[in-house]
Formats: sequence, C-alpha cells, structure tokens
Amino acid sequence: MDYKISGEIHLIGAPILRTVGIPIVDFSPELGIFFGQMDRIMRADQGIGIAAQQVGLAVRCCIVDVSECAAEGKDFCILNGNPVAPQAIMPLYICNPKIVAAEHLCTLREGCLSIPHFRYEIERPETITVFFSDPKGNAQKITCNGVLARCMQHEFDHLDGKLFIDWLSPSGEKKFKRFLKNRE
Ligand SMILES: [Zn+2]
Repeated sequence: MDYKISGEIHLIGAPILRTVGIPIVDFSPELGIFFGQMDRIMRADQGIGIAAQQVGLAVRCCIVDVSECAAEGKDFCILNGNPVAPQAIMPLYICNPKIVAAEHLCTLREGCLSIPHFRYEIERPETITVFFSDPKGNAQKITCNGVLARCMQHEFDHLDGKLFIDWLSPSGEKKFKRFLKNRE
C-alpha cells in the first residue's frame, strides 16, 4: 500500500471526499508515518479530527483529538474494558472502525476542515461502541459519549464518502445553500 500524500487538505467538491475508503490491510511502519502526516495537517488547521480522504487517500483510517474540548467529568470513555479520561488517550489513531452499538440522540454543532467556515447543528447518537484497530493492527474496543463520540462519527462518515452536510435539517440546508452562494 502506498501511503504517499501531497500534504494539502481536500475541500468540498473534490471527488476524493465522496470516495468510500478501502480497509487498511497493510499495518507497516509506512502507515505510522502516514498517521504522523495526517496529525500534522490536522493540527496546522486547528482540527479536532481528520480522515484519510481529506488528505487525498480513500482508505479507512482517521484521527480524533478532543483533548481541548472533552467535558471533564461529564464525558465517559471505556477503552478495552478500562474506564479512562478521554483526554488521556488522545490523539486516537483509528483504523477500520465499525460502530457496533449506538444509543440516544443529541444535537451538537459540527464543522469540517474540508468545509471551512461552515458550522451547523447535527443530530447523531450520543453514545457509541466501536471496534477498530490501532496503527499496529491491534484490535481495540471503545465505548464513549460526548464530543469524542461525535467527532468519531463525523470522521467515520468521511471513510464512507459522507460529509456532515448530508445530515442537515431543512433550515441547515438553506443556510448551506446561502454559504455556497456567498463562496462563489
Ligand atoms: Zn470533516
């Protein structure tokens, strides 16, 4: 697997953002290097998450880092059976995620590095359980809520070629149309 990228963020309109990612099967050191590159690109844009599609590769891996915005005490997280503070396990490097349980709905404002300057409230499950692999191919299981669960669901959408604007309410769609018009 060739994990080489140009280093730029792909913006809305780029076909790669609508491309379903293929599962990661090559857990070589090159994958670790790729994660490091994605991490730098995410931080340079002050992102709290990034997916491979956004840097030009349609593969199933992403990063979340909500250490600046997880609500201390309110958000919970159980990693491989152990309760942990979400901040303690950031950044989280995720390969081949699969949501196996999701419950309750909540509304939170989302934004995306690929859609700069547009944010809107989106309704999604509040608590999720996810199976995934770390960059070395080790199986992991996480259950969490809050900003971490939200950020993960947003990034997992990218791996399926979806964007948060696909889930806009009618009023959100109106606002997004205006946003696109002003952007021209
Ligand atoms: Zn995004």
